[in-house]
Amino acid sequence: MRQPDHDILFQPIQIGPVTAPNRFYQVPHCNGMGHARPRALAALRGMKAEGGWGVVCTEEVEIHPSSDISPFLEGRIWDDRDIPALRLMTDAVHAHGSLAGIQLVHNGLHAPNLNSRIVPMGPSAGVVDTLHPLQSRAMDKADLRNLRKWHRDAALRAQKAGFDLVYAYAGHGYSMPHHFLSRRFNQRTDEYGGSVANRTRLLRELIMDAKEAVGDTCGVVLRLAVHEFFGPDSITCEEEGREIVSLLADLPDLFDVNVAGWPMDSSTARFAPDEGYQEPYMAFVKQLTRKPVVGVGRFTSVDAMASQIRRGILDLVGSARPSIADPFLPKKLETGRYDDIRECIGCNICTASDDLMANLRCTQNPTMGEEWRRGWHPERIEPRGSEDAVLVIGAGPAGLECALQLANRGYDVTLAEATRKLGGRILAESALPGLSSWIRLLDYRATQLRRRSNVRIALENRLNAADVLELGIPRVIVATGSRWRADGVGRTHRKPVPGLATLQLLTPDDVMAGVSAHGHVVVFDDDVYFLGGVLAEALVRRGHVVTLVTPHAQVSPWTEHTLEQGKIQARLLELGVELVLNQTVQEAVPGGLVLACAFTGRTRELACDTWVPVTGRIAQDTLFQGLKDDPPGLASAGITSLRAIGDCWAPGILAAAIYAGHQAARELDADPADIEAQLFRRELPSEAVW
Ligand code: ADP
Ligand code: SF4
Repeated sequence: MRQPDHDILFQPIQIGPVTAPNRFYQVPHCNGMGHARPRALAALRGMKAEGGWGVVCTEEVEIHPSSDISPFLEGRIWDDRDIPALRLMTDAVHAHGSLAGIQLVHNGLHAPNLNSRIVPMGPSAGVVDTLHPLQSRAMDKADLRNLRKWHRDAALRAQKAGFDLVYAYAGHGYSMPHHFLSRRFNQRTDEYGGSVANRTRLLRELIMDAKEAVGDTCGVVLRLAVHEFFGPDSITCEEEGREIVSLLADLPDLFDVNVAGWPMDSSTARFAPDEGYQEPYMAFVKQLTRKPVVGVGRFTSVDAMASQIRRGILDLVGSARPSIADPFLPKKLETGRYDDIRECIGCNICTASDDLMANLRCTQNPTMGEEWRRGWHPERIEPRGSEDAVLVIGAGPAGLECALQLANRGYDVTLAEATRKLGGRILAESALPGLSSWIRLLDYRATQLRRRSNVRIALENRLNAADVLELGIPRVIVATGSRWRADGVGRTHRKPVPGLATLQLLTPDDVMAGVSAHGHVVVFDDDVYFLGGVLAEALVRRGHVVTLVTPHAQVSPWTEHTLEQGKIQARLLELGVELVLNQTVQEAVPGGLVLACAFTGRTRELACDTWVPVTGRIAQDTLFQGLKDDPPGLASAGITSLRAIGDCWAPGILAAAIYAGHQAARELDADPADIEAQLFRRELPSEAVW
């Protein structure tokens, strides 16, 4: 059972006219589904409620076509026709006794209105803050009246849709009230500009309007960025943030506070390793208001959560990512099942899904986003379909997840691993600077596997095809992973780079294994994700002079989606890594590399002693191919199914390997024709919910 110290997390709390059943609060978070996939989203939110989150909120929900954030897929409550889709969510949340919250948004000058083609609006005229050649116009008094009406109407619709909590949103730099608060955007000279009180006026009016319209049945929540990292004109927790909270202290029913912009609010573990990293910025809020306060900080440990409440920092523990990684976190804490929690690793593959407008996904929790379309539950899985035993070869992320889920289904599982340790690439990658929390992917699965009596773990067992046939275990899943290439082949080079043998070459696997480089090291990063940048960082920390060459205009460009790109580039510059952008490695020559401009092809030489091409990987599928090419051998060994998963099928990100392992376990008994036919359920526009 849970420790009495933690009971505080399970006490109900009043939020205006409604009562949250406990202190677990899923703050609004986006998901790449939004208004386009309401059934999937309702199932996802319902799962959080089933898992014990006392409050479950939407993502930002646009209140009007002049707040059209497309192509991003957020929620919409433009008119009454949006109500039925939102009702799916409130029903799903209420089914488990939780409260449903809606974050109403007008995106102000953050909305390019690409679909609606309405000219963007803001407190003052200026360039929109997204990368579009557009300017906003300054709102006049009629616009302000309209905005208040749209917000009020949206609150009434939200009430009709069944929401218990309605937000006024001034966070992340993404919303109109925030633009009014900010000296960066608000240069007005009327009563809505100038002093902090004037700049707070619109927000006050929106909260008052909402209270008057729906305050009888709904709690009105203020989501406020109390500290910004936007340079000299920022709202800070020492000055304007404090003043704004004081001015509004008794108005909303709940303060939901955080830092801005989004990359600082949802900082990855690489750049904010500590749980509760927002506490220094928001600790003051409770001193200025008698209303309850919720805040975030990638909380995953029960002690940290309970301590936030006990020390009077927060009244409710807010969470987006930990609730994605483990929708059942509250239920597990409630029953003292601490080791069963899938702790968020802080990698932000979830934010990448939203940024890419793809179904929400999570590295730790492969069922996230699959609740409706595949019917996957994070805690329940179909019992086994046969008595067959299963051999899983390779204990990297794919093999670990597959073995665990097969064991959960009741199969007898043998997990064979060539090395002395479980973990595969997780071990290597989590040892890189800033990535230690990634070991949680292994810790969770290893702990669970060791508890299952139907799993046999065979370490230091490198199997070849003959071994597998001799074992004769009827179901075989191969998860033997991949190796980084040593020939520079990747996105830019489809053939090996000439002159490979001229210089010392280390693959990323070599660097991660600690093989020594010598002299000036050049990392050639054509991979676009985190590895090139973090290897450069690791090599500098080992004492090398490092140059990072990339054909792209930024280092680690894909990490824009994980909200890390700017931080990675800044860190490398601060560490003294020379960045050579828009250049590719054409060939290696004695003493250096010949670089070519990615645009003109113009060449130059760069001195180099050791180079590290981070370009592509080769699937380690010899075992799989050997078995596949031997149907008679498989038949005589009694092997009835063979499947390759994860990086040995096609190298990808960690989230893809874990997903592949999970999927293979779920599909072990499925007819291949069915798998093909029923890839997943789709939400068709022709099957509208209204
Ligand atoms: P993935 O991301 O697909 O899980 P990894 O490369 O992380 O792949 O893990 C693959 C694991 O498989 C490694 O731990 C590796 O040692 C192991 N492995 C590779 N070949 C064999 C083999 N023939 N027998 C057993 N284990 C193997
Ligand atoms: Fe946490 Fe990564 Fe999952 Fe996001 S994707 S919830 S950061 S583990």
